[in-house]
Amino acid sequence: MGLKVFYNDLEQGYHPRHSFFYGRFTPYPDVPHRTRSILAAIEGRNGFEVTAIPPLMLQDAAGVHGLDYLEALGEVCGGLAVDEEFFPFHMAALPLLKTSPYPRLRVGYFALDGSTPLIAPSLNAALGAAASALAGAGALAGGEPLAYALTRPPGHHAGRASYAGYCLINHAALAAQALSGAGKVAVLDVDFHHGNGTQEIFWGRDDVFYASLHCRPEEAYPYITGSAEERGEGPGLGANLNLPLPGGTDWAAYAPALETALEAVRAFDPATVVVSLGLDTLASDPIGNFALAPEDFQAIGRRIAQLGRPLLIVQEGGYDVPSLGKCVNRFFDGLDAGGIGGIGGIGGAGGAGGEEAG
Ligand SMILES: [Zn+2]
Repeated sequence: MGLKVFYNDLEQGYHPRHSFFYGRFTPYPDVPHRTRSILAAIEGRNGFEVTAIPPLMLQDAAGVHGLDYLEALGEVCGGLAVDEEFFPFHMAALPLLKTSPYPRLRVGYFALDGSTPLIAPSLNAALGAAASALAGAGALAGGEPLAYALTRPPGHHAGRASYAGYCLINHAALAAQALSGAGKVAVLDVDFHHGNGTQEIFWGRDDVFYASLHCRPEEAYPYITGSAEERGEGPGLGANLNLPLPGGTDWAAYAPALETALEAVRAFDPATVVVSLGLDTLASDPIGNFALAPEDFQAIGRRIAQLGRPLLIVQEGGYDVPSLGKCVNRFFDGLDAGGIGGIGGIGGAGGAGGEEAG
């Protein structure tokens, strides 16, 4: 079946050089070649069609983010020199910081950690990616069973008023918010890292379910969220499911956790599913330390397709650049095998068929 891809190449001009991690400056892993390699790998797929969407206006991203947060980002990015990388001096949600007259101090109110420098194109790149995610949501609303938002920078670490983990705008959350107007939405996050931002944004909501498989916070970024005890609160209590897994997790250990997540999604009975597709669970990923093989993404895709719901796939992390295209292709192969094109309405189970290796 056709593959509708939403992608805007203005992110190719977005190339931070350094992260500040563990007290050291380290090479920035979210490089422009990530998206190029994925596109090159999938452009030969049957029915491949890419649509470029112009960046969102700030207020269009305010569905899940505070406008003051977005404006603070914009003020700093707009004042940076070419090739300047900006890290806030203070990073703390303290009231005096938020009201500081100095944009370079004020933005520290919204920084969760030092992993993500701001450079001049940062906000515009994120707004471009966010537009792709919203357009993907629009495609689902228009009756498409599948859309792929090839987003860079990633988004799931961005909270309502915070940036972190290479993320400034939470594209998956923005799309889920848009889709939630037409029925319940499940966000299934299979990135190696816990999507602290998505969890925070929907923490108190009972109409958006968040399920995440990730490396346990004792071992891996973001370190401060992702435990199984975090289940939401108020009306959202029970609509947040964290499945933390230890480093070294391979398919044998991953598959049962995935099945737990999928059973919970089925029980929630969403009208649509947003998948935060991280590829940093791959064994060769330079950041993650899970042990999945490229074939395992096919198994993941097949199982997700068998939910029998329209799917918006939003790209998150994944940093072993030469392997990204192969993993994405295997994932879409799995969706095809699982019968994503044959969705016959809400509640329909997916296709049967032989189990692939992995
Ligand atoms: Zn990740």
